[in-house]
Amino acid sequence: DKFTVLCCGGGNAAQVATGLFAVRYNTIAVSFFADEAAKWKAALGDDEFELTIPGGGVMKSKPKDITNDPSVAKDADVILLVVPSFAHGEYFEKFAPHMKPGTIVATMPARSGGDILFASKLGDKAKDMIFCGFETLPWACRFTEWGKKATVLGTKNNILAAVSPISASRKALSKLQGLLGVNPLVEESPNNLGISLRNPGMCIHPGVMYGRWGPESWDGQPKDEAPLFYQGVDDFTEKVLTGMTDEVQAICCKMEEVAPGLNMKDACTLKQWYLDCYDGQMKDTSTLKSCMNTNAAYDGLKHPCKEVDGKFMPDLKYRYLSEDIPTGLCFAKGLAEILSLETPTIDKVVKWGQECIGLEIMVDGKMTGKDLDKTRAPQGMGITTLDAFLAASKIEK
Ligand code: NAD
Repeated sequence: DKFTVLCCGGGNAAQVATGLFAVRYNTIAVSFFADEAAKWKAALGDDEFELTIPGGGVMKSKPKDITNDPSVAKDADVILLVVPSFAHGEYFEKFAPHMKPGTIVATMPARSGGDILFASKLGDKAKDMIFCGFETLPWACRFTEWGKKATVLGTKNNILAAVSPISASRKALSKLQGLLGVNPLVEESPNNLGISLRNPGMCIHPGVMYGRWGPESWDGQPKDEAPLFYQGVDDFTEKVLTGMTDEVQAICCKMEEVAPGLNMKDACTLKQWYLDCYDGQMKDTSTLKSCMNTNAAYDGLKHPCKEVDGKFMPDLKYRYLSEDIPTGLCFAKGLAEILSLETPTIDKVVKWGQECIGLEIMVDGKMTGKDLDKTRAPQGMGITTLDAFLAASKIEK
């Protein structure tokens, strides 16, 4: 039997991954979103999918099927989720009854707490499966003709990935490396908790949004232009970001204390993350603010805004809040609560952000809101004690 991979989702990333994998493997694209699978299948018809890669080369391939039938999971060796993280739970749940033991399920990017969500959705079956969390998507990519053509704008050199259980790491990562090809180089990260707390988007996106549009800095009036997102980071926003990243570091230190031997090296500060990922692309690396202001990769990127009568209002439901708070920041805040750590900066960002996205997550500073189950807060997955958290994360005390 040929190696079979399910590529899940139907957006930019999923179409690119499908096109790439189908060149060499039995690839089935799966989307559970509305009628997306049927639409994509009709759009492609009898044609081959065309993927343009950096340098201008074109790869043509044809997925074996494009479907919304979860039972295709029965033949899968690898299931790769390349969808926004709020959709991960649905895929885990629908595939669970069909997956064979030893299936590798990878999320790209994992955001935070993906391993715990996976275990909670699979129940007893989780122990026979291998979960892999990637820190990010390796490609910057866009489809150019929906369902038929896409372009890889750039590929990262290295990406971190962690495997649960750790004993399956070597085997799983070498299979995933085979799937991805030479680039990016998949680097083993010690554990999924490190991937969860490294998640840079959970601080950067909501933090920069708060810094610009929160009650401490914005008067609610429209702007003449959409402000620059990264280049526009000012002293106040930097203070918010530093507060958040320091609070996450306190969580890491406490975890290493309660679980000796736990290696949290990859859950670094935001500044360190910039130095690791954008080396050579920043003119001034002296501070977090200067790293963000002078990063060539961010040139011209603006705040998500909507035009109203020729002026600009922020889009406060954009994924910088609607994805990064529930599946990122809420994980960190929830874990801090379990560890009895104060997180004043994260709290004020969550308090403001939850109203923007219309969720009740935190009440009086505690993770008890009615919408907790829509988040990756451990509390939303039924975990309220340190012992339960360690067990769910497969961490030894
Ligand atoms: P996208 O916005 O194109 O993904 C849209 C897809 O998500 C839809 O096609 C559908 O399959 C699914 N979806 C949307 N709403 C849904 C819903 N309500 N329920 C279920 N499924 C739903 O995103 P993308 O560009 O493919 O990126 C995927 C992930 O990778 C995101 O988390 C993104 O932040 C990240 N990422 C993307 C890039 C890039 O260059 N495209 C770069 C870095 C990171």
